[in-house]
Amino acid sequence: MLTARNLTKNYSNLHVLKGVSVSVSAGEIVTIVGSSGAGKSTLLHLLGTLDTPTSGEVWLNDVNLTLLKGNALADFRNRHMGFIFQFHHLLPEFSALENVCIPGFIAGVKKSAVKERAAFLLETLGLGNRKDHKPNELSGGEQQRVAVARALINTPDIVMADEPTGNLDSKNARELHQLFIELRDKFRQTFIIVTHNEELAPLSDRQLVMKDGRMVGQEIDDLPLIIG
Ligand code: ADP
Ligand code: ADP
Repeated sequence: MLTARNLTKNYSNLHVLKGVSVSVSAGEIVTIVGSSGAGKSTLLHLLGTLDTPTSGEVWLNDVNLTLLKGNALADFRNRHMGFIFQFHHLLPEFSALENVCIPGFIAGVKKSAVKERAAFLLETLGLGNRKDHKPNELSGGEQQRVAVARALINTPDIVMADEPTGNLDSKNARELHQLFIELRDKFRQTFIIVTHNEELAPLSDRQLVMKDGRMVGQEIDDLPLIIG
């Protein structure tokens, strides 16, 4: 579904990505792990078209994202990808429901349909009675679940998350990860998640390990362990 080929990223003479290829299938939760500075966030930004590679290509289904520019790129991204960050970036003056609706309104979907889906998502994420609350009236875990609902509003092909549990305590972090698993199982939602969380990463379908701008290892859970 999402395929990146031979991505490189240089900042002047700093080679942050040195030829990374990634492929993610529909309905998979893939985590990207590795030490700080390995290039994880840079890779996620390139996969999410939030930044452009120095060389290489990113494809989503049969669209070469590397060729999209300007408004066409912004529009494609808003319709096909959802984003969750460490800090939820909810707009403080809007309610949970309104925050969730925003990407739907931007996509030009009929307002009543967007509101209905936003309410459905908040209900599904256990926030049915929090719809009209402003972000500062919600707990950290609830705020992050609102951000998840917002990421899902346009039924994205893939959700990209950069340290989504980084600002949560371990209980809320576990609950958020469990929620990703439920969304995968219920809606076949695809996720690619950068995480430092050593407890949660192994629960994903696949862990990609980055080191020094390269992909160094892949652990596929359901392959038999071969002990040599
Ligand atoms: P990680 O997410 O694995 O911690 P990053 O992708 O954030 O790693 O960063 C990888 C390397 O790229 C680091 O050495 C970082 O300092 C460098 N880097 C990231 N963004 C920029 C930038 N905009 N300009 C210059 N260097 C950057
Ligand atoms: P959690 O255990 O999920 O971290 P908290 O103990 O922080 O939740 O909050 C419990 C409840 O109190 C939540 O349902 C939340 O909506 C409500 N709440 C938390 N902070 C505030 C606040 N600043 N204003 C109003 N309600 C709040």
